[in-house]
Amino acid sequence: MTLIVQKFGGTSVADPDRMKNVARHVAETRRQGNDVVVVVSAMGKATDNLVELARQVSSNPQGREMDMLLTTGERISMSLLCMALNDLGCEAMSFTGSQVGIITDTSHTKAKILEIKGDRVREALGQGKVAVIAGFQGVSTEREVTTLGRGGSDTTAVAMAAALKADVCEIYTDVTGVFSADPRMVPQARKLGWLSFDEMLEMAGAGSKVLALRSVEFARNHDVPIHVRSSFTWEQGTWVSGEDNEGRRKMEDPIISGVVHDVGESKMTLLGVPDKPGVSALLFESLAKANVNVDMIVQNTSIEGTTDISFTLPMADVKTAEPILNDVAKKVGASGVTQDDNIAKLSLVGAGMKSSPGIAAKMFRILAENQVNIEMISTSTIRISVVVRREHLQIALRALHSAFNLDSGEDYSAPLPERK
Ligand code: ASP
Ligand code: MG
Repeated sequence: MTLIVQKFGGTSVADPDRMKNVARHVAETRRQGNDVVVVVSAMGKATDNLVELARQVSSNPQGREMDMLLTTGERISMSLLCMALNDLGCEAMSFTGSQVGIITDTSHTKAKILEIKGDRVREALGQGKVAVIAGFQGVSTEREVTTLGRGGSDTTAVAMAAALKADVCEIYTDVTGVFSADPRMVPQARKLGWLSFDEMLEMAGAGSKVLALRSVEFARNHDVPIHVRSSFTWEQGTWVSGEDNEGRRKMEDPIISGVVHDVGESKMTLLGVPDKPGVSALLFESLAKANVNVDMIVQNTSIEGTTDISFTLPMADVKTAEPILNDVAKKVGASGVTQDDNIAKLSLVGAGMKSSPGIAAKMFRILAENQVNIEMISTSTIRISVVVRREHLQIALRALHSAFNLDSGEDYSAPLPERK
């Protein structure tokens, strides 16, 4: 029998009607003879609302209590969905992360999954029932309730699929799949039929919000095929799987799979630092100690013994980084610290890059022709990223999308639901 894990995001279960639609789809999948395990997110903006409530009562809520609070969102979804399923004559049982034995480490609000027991899920499946699991949560090795970080239900779903050796993990969301660019920025964006794990990983790392980065890492490590699709249209979406899976990459596939952007980063610069050993070590060690996630780094050649060091980081980390930079500046005798939010990161991703030289050169030429200045550059074997002025983002995205033959030939016209 085929075992399918179906994950429904917050917008898919945002209100009772959508919940009932989801129930119908799950019941139908079961009726066709599949074993079905469902993972649900909290309804709509429920998690955001809980975070806001916490903020109103405390300036510094403890991780343990945050996790107690946030896990309630998914509990509401799982029980309601089971009620709707049972009404349709589809027997279903809900489980918390703790009940199904999703064992995590002890770091509250960003716990990592260590092991999945899954006995109760197997039991429920054995009785012909659909098992509905609360996403984004587990129980720590110290028996405390934990959460996996925002967007963590994707990870729950993929991890469950790996543990149960499911045939596929379907991730239902409010878009119809993974696109060659964000359709709100590039109307000519096209839905991609298939991506390799590596490409999806680079896309998620470069700012694509469709799948949580950790869920893709998990899928790659355990070889779980993912099918990203819409719970609004139910049409075929985008498959993400291993490179040699069914020889999916075709000769005529475009070299570039997508142009991804990220406007959630800020740039910080340490000005006029003496060009001598130990400065970068001190700076980035101090940032790492404070858990600041540094992305791109650029150091200029020195002029008269001093240089500038710039790097990008998530905007949410700027507050933490500021005092650290000021401190390092004092220690090494730098002349100042600046911060710039008005940037955008733009990345080309494509496995075809490995065998096609000149992609970076072409990218830079297209940007130059469009008068877009490049401030920083970084690359991997299948990704090239640049930082540009925020106001140049859209023109750059569209120009690159066209130049690398990604345009679909028609403007995207399906409704674009608001994303969380
Ligand atoms: N409800 C959680 C969040 O909003 C987890 C998830 O949706 O994946 O982050
Ligand atoms: Mg979500």
